Amino acid sequence: MSVKPTIKCNCGQRIISKDVMQTGYYLRLFGPSFVYVKFRCSRCKKLGEQFIKQEDWEDGILKDIPSEVDQAERRKLDVLGPISIHEQIAFHFGLDNTDLLEKLTRQAELQVSGVEDSKDAER
Ligand SMILES: [Zn+2]
Repeated sequence: MSVKPTIKCNCGQRIISKDVMQTGYYLRLFGPSFVYVKFRCSRCKKLGEQFIKQEDWEDGILKDIPSEVDQAERRKLDVLGPISIHEQIAFHFGLDNTDLLEKLTRQAELQVSGVEDSKDAER
């Protein structure tokens, strides 16, 4: 039907439940009732408030959209930037290197065991 409503800060950051400081309910005799949300933006740290029509309010409105990349990973990707043509060329010629696969496999094994170690540490 329609696009799911979301709450956004002036800077464009989506507001989710952990950013919300206060919610209220504005009942009106005439016209639509509103849900009032006061928040502090997680990106620009500014306070903001918004009224959402009751009919637009739904349980998922403050839920974070699950993403396959976590925040740390996203920051890393942002720093790396888009894949350049030079990187693609280097990768292309890298494929001619026959022990590359073996090297990658060994590296991946190391990384996998490293990731599992750090996960255990978090728990
Ligand atoms: Zn903001």
